[in-house]
Amino acid sequence: MSRSEQMQHPCPDGLGGYKLLSARQKYNLAFCSEDEVEVAEHFRRFVDAELMPYRHDIEGGWHRDPKLAKETIHRLYAKLLDFGVGRAILPTKFGGDGLSPVVRQMINEELARADIGLATKVGKLHWAISVLIAAGRDDLLEELAPRITGDEVWTACFAITEPAGGANVEDPALGYRTLNTVATEDGDEYIINGHKLWPGPAGPSENFQSEHMTEHLGYWVIAITDPAGGEDSAGIFYVPGDSAGLEFSQPYEKMGFSYTEANTDIWFNNVRIPKRYRIDTEPGQGTKLIKGYVIGLGRLAGAARLTGLSEAVFETCLDWTKNRIIEGKPMRERSLFAATLAEMWRGIEMSRQYYLSVTSQVMNPEVYGNPWEAQMKAKFSAARSFAGDTAMMVTNKAMQLMGSAGYAYESHIEKYMRDYKIVQMWLGGAERDRLDMAQGLFGPFTWAPGEPRE
Ligand SMILES: Cc1cc2nc3c(=O)[nH]c(=O)nc-3n(C[C@H](O)[C@H](O)[C@H](O)COP(=O)(O)OP(=O)(O)OC[C@H]3O[C@@H](n4cnc5c(N)ncnc54)[C@H](O)[C@@H]3O)c2cc1C
Repeated sequence: MSRSEQMQHPCPDGLGGYKLLSARQKYNLAFCSEDEVEVAEHFRRFVDAELMPYRHDIEGGWHRDPKLAKETIHRLYAKLLDFGVGRAILPTKFGGDGLSPVVRQMINEELARADIGLATKVGKLHWAISVLIAAGRDDLLEELAPRITGDEVWTACFAITEPAGGANVEDPALGYRTLNTVATEDGDEYIINGHKLWPGPAGPSENFQSEHMTEHLGYWVIAITDPAGGEDSAGIFYVPGDSAGLEFSQPYEKMGFSYTEANTDIWFNNVRIPKRYRIDTEPGQGTKLIKGYVIGLGRLAGAARLTGLSEAVFETCLDWTKNRIIEGKPMRERSLFAATLAEMWRGIEMSRQYYLSVTSQVMNPEVYGNPWEAQMKAKFSAARSFAGDTAMMVTNKAMQLMGSAGYAYESHIEKYMRDYKIVQMWLGGAERDRLDMAQGLFGPFTWAPGEPRE
């Protein structure tokens, strides 16, 4: 068999005999309803038909052709929004479908099977909507909803990381003391000055205009109003994508998420926004939103995406090891390899059942606590770090089992391996996850001078 014939394994659809990977088996009715499982099944079929065949084009093929990548990303993102994923969690009173946080995570998982960058792009819209809902900002939801529910296609971005270090912003012991983006009140406006690293997708508005896309909705910016103010002065500021005073670097070149993210520096040079674009409205609400809805739920969404990525790799590996014959027997039926595959499935299944369980706990704060409380943060961090360790194990073992075929471009495994890593590291990283679990378990404690700030 030639190498290209060797790569012609069936396109994984999770239904080809793998009952345990079907939506019905995966999505536990303890955490979701029959209707929600049907939504997941329906979406999974869409992903298989409309996205899976274009996975290589999302990166612009082997040679990373930026034109092919941009055309593909804009087209597929528009298709996803047309399918309804953008408005899925928007409350019905604003024209959305009002689906539950569980569906948000199912979308993350199923979409990440095709491409975790596209899943993150859709996730940014959900993130933005969820923060506005949590802040009770019906006025802003009403203002922005037509761009989410209509025929237009807009993208959104969160700007958190700064030159002083991403993990520092996410370290509660530091009380935002390393945050240097400052929003100063001036009459009916805030004037924002500062420098962010890494937010994506970012860039001049015209980068987001094409046959398929309308524009950039804007940036949800973490900033402080008083450099000496610490926690109490932290807030989230909505900065429209075409605001005067925004300056961007060229997009960074990086290991994964080649074009889906378009990460750049952003300089805020006297950017003026109306006061009502400060999303938190009460003292102390900003830090609760940042800890609970930006960092906490961001990590939980990461867990769902990492689970979907792992499953896609696993499906490919299952098919491969069925077709690879060793001494007259499919490789996967030999005990050493069967046990390895079983271990991979166990990790994926545990990741999923745990992130679903935590999602259902978020929906019952009166029992489990609010998303900004230490015990919930510990659970978000456990979900993300376990799903991250699982993705690391699954991509590595899949490549191991598939040998050079797994190392080859055509198998897609190498791309999933490049992509999963950052999801383990963003929003504070694997070490912060461990520290936040310890804080939930026996905190508060601090290594920083002064009082504990948890
Ligand atoms: C593809 C991609 C997309 C991204 N998207 C965005 C985005 O949309 N918006 C945005 O704002 N940022 C984004 N980022 C940035 C990302 O969130 C940060 O890089 C990440 O939080 C880590 O920050 P850092 O790189 O500054 O590393 P550092 O802060 O230097 O940390 C490096 C490592 O040191 C450890 N560490 C450092 N300080 C602490 C601490 N105080 N407590 C515990 N551990 C610590 C951690 O292990 C960490 O992994 C993106 C990055 C990439 C690569």
